[in-house]
Amino acid sequence: MTKFEALGLQKSLLDAVADLGFETPSEVQEKAIPILLESETDLVALAQTGTGKTAAFGFPLIQKIDSNSRTTQGLILSPTRELCLQITKEMQAYSKYERNINVVAIYGGASITDQARQIKRGAQIIVATPGRMKDMISRRLVDISKIDYCILDEADEMLNMGFMEDIKDILSGTPNDKSTWLFSATMPKEVSIIAKKFMNSPQEITVGAKNSGASTVQHEYYVVGGRDRYPALKRLADTNPDIFSVIFCRTKRDTQKVAENLIEDGYNAGALHGDLSQNQRDLVMNSFRKRQIQMLVATDVAARGIDVDDITHVINYQLPDEIETYTHRSGRTGRAGKSGISMVIITRSEQRKIKAIENKINQKFIAKQIPTGMEICEIQLYHLANKIKDTKINADVENYLPAINDVLQGIDREELIKKIVSVEFTRFSNYYNKSKDLNSSDSGRDRD
Ligand code: ADP
Ligand code: MG
Repeated sequence: MTKFEALGLQKSLLDAVADLGFETPSEVQEKAIPILLESETDLVALAQTGTGKTAAFGFPLIQKIDSNSRTTQGLILSPTRELCLQITKEMQAYSKYERNINVVAIYGGASITDQARQIKRGAQIIVATPGRMKDMISRRLVDISKIDYCILDEADEMLNMGFMEDIKDILSGTPNDKSTWLFSATMPKEVSIIAKKFMNSPQEITVGAKNSGASTVQHEYYVVGGRDRYPALKRLADTNPDIFSVIFCRTKRDTQKVAENLIEDGYNAGALHGDLSQNQRDLVMNSFRKRQIQMLVATDVAARGIDVDDITHVINYQLPDEIETYTHRSGRTGRAGKSGISMVIITRSEQRKIKAIENKINQKFIAKQIPTGMEICEIQLYHLANKIKDTKINADVENYLPAINDVLQGIDREELIKKIVSVEFTRFSNYYNKSKDLNSSDSGRDRD
């Protein structure tokens, strides 16, 4: 009996596993698959990127689907078009020895008519991004009122991209007695809200890092060329539009410089270091507490007293000399039971320092890739669309409407949306158009 067989997988899946060349189940697969196969439970699974989560929910889902029925039985929500396509491809590979299972991808930026046609042919499993899914539901092009399984993949990323409301809307049109499986790398507040609101005493599994103490901080490093630190920092900020962070530099001079550059580039940033007067420092700290500053660039000494909760990211623009100092830095996030991310930007020659820190903090780092310009543009576009949607209408706008209508007359809704979104989006797409890959490692893996 192979290890996959021991998990309870049926023959058709075992054959697909063999074709894929998977030899042993990953930890999250080992933990999740038997639970999902044996019971109709809700599940929260926390595991880092690259740990094989797709198969952890994909195998059980395929096994549980009734392939004789054409009804849509499983819905997988995922944050981006790329992921959506990737999951669909994987699901198709897993189900290749199942005769009648159709997996259809639903995502923005492609013909909705084509997608609707595919759905109509009978899709037992739909893999969708939340925005397009909502759109298709409201146009009655898809029916998810009878699904048995709903999977929220990369839940933290979906919420980070502002899909909370869409997810709530989508889930509200699904049966109460379905099972919901939530997969996420981290467990920020928004994810636990979803879990509480939409799940029924979910079983929980956690894989990897979380065992050392009560830490809720995920440690990540990014290997870049020495001159690419600053552009890399910008990309990390652009990938996380709601970032609320402390960025650590080694010297007062670098601290000041990085803050100035960020401000010049349009970010809500501020500097905190010993060359500022007490009064200046108080001003900066007040703005940071009120979140008028999203990125506080600080020296270790100046940041010592920072007692702000809810910091989402600590970014080590440069590593400190003392490992001890790294612990202090990363401890600025993940406070009060919240989760947080500590990012380290390093050059290749510094990579060995990561090992030393890992030993000290007794936690593993994840090697991550600086996102590409395209990935950032996509994230920003969704974020912008959601921002427009959630914007409260300012009553004073009313007075100017006749004049505005005059100016905008003759532009239809479709075109107007394109124009509105372009106002801000062009800034990113111009900047990232033809942008180069900043990653300088040959060891890192592809972002999924
Ligand atoms: P995650 O969603 O956790 O980031 P993925 O499901 O995308 O991870 O899997 C990452 C990679 O590992 C994929 O290329 C996948 O095909 C591969 N993989 C998954 N499970 C196994 C396994 N048991 N053995 C070998 N490779 C695996
Ligand atoms: Mg995944």
